[in-house]
Amino acid sequence: MRAIRADKGAQLSLLDLQSVDTTLAQLHHRRQILPQHAAIAKLRTERVAVASDLVAAETRISDLELEQAKAEADLEPVRERLSRNQVRITNGAIADPKALSSMLEEVIHLKKRISDLEDAELDVMEQLEAALASQETLRARAARIDANLSEASADRDQQLAALEAEMGALRQQRAEIAPLIPADLLALYGKIGASHAGVGAAELRARRCTGCQLEVNAADLRAFSAAADDQVLRCEECGRILIRTAQSGL
Ligand SMILES: [Zn+2]
Repeated sequence: MRAIRADKGAQLSLLDLQSVDTTLAQLHHRRQILPQHAAIAKLRTERVAVASDLVAAETRISDLELEQAKAEADLEPVRERLSRNQVRITNGAIADPKALSSMLEEVIHLKKRISDLEDAELDVMEQLEAALASQETLRARAARIDANLSEASADRDQQLAALEAEMGALRQQRAEIAPLIPADLLALYGKIGASHAGVGAAELRARRCTGCQLEVNAADLRAFSAAADDQVLRCEECGRILIRTAQSGL
């Protein structure tokens, strides 16, 4: 492979580019792990559960309403029969004492039947009242979750916009720095970065590669010291492009 050469200024620009790219990667990561994402997901799950509870409550209410209507319908003919019998008893329409006695017995039976049916209807009405109250509670909870959701979404959008603005400024910086670097060096930087967690170039600082943090051995250090300024160095340990600065300790 042909050795890549780049003047000192271009190599320092590559270090600037790496710094921009590292910050961009951090912002990209921060964008993905915004706490609002998790909060919104949790609220959405809660909202789905409440919606399903609301459907169940509505079903229960309509079942109970039907049951109440049926109880009322059951009562109607019994009440009518009782009132008819009572009229006949009161106006003396029944002369036969045996028939009268049997009618009086029926009245007692009808009253008991009405009382039982009314108890049953009352029970249904109480259940219906409880179901309506529970529906109200669920609706209030749904409204609260919706409000929290829109608040969290607005919060998230605000954070995303702030990050996007920051990233936009960095992309602009990147576009200004990149042309200062020879294409072959830039390509090598991209290739190494792709397999080295986005870090293709590192500063040689105090005899240490800031990419892998390992100290350069004495022999390599001698070679680096002897290398021409425009020679592009590579870390023997991690393979990253190693940039010499005033702090390199050479
Ligand atoms: Zn290294």
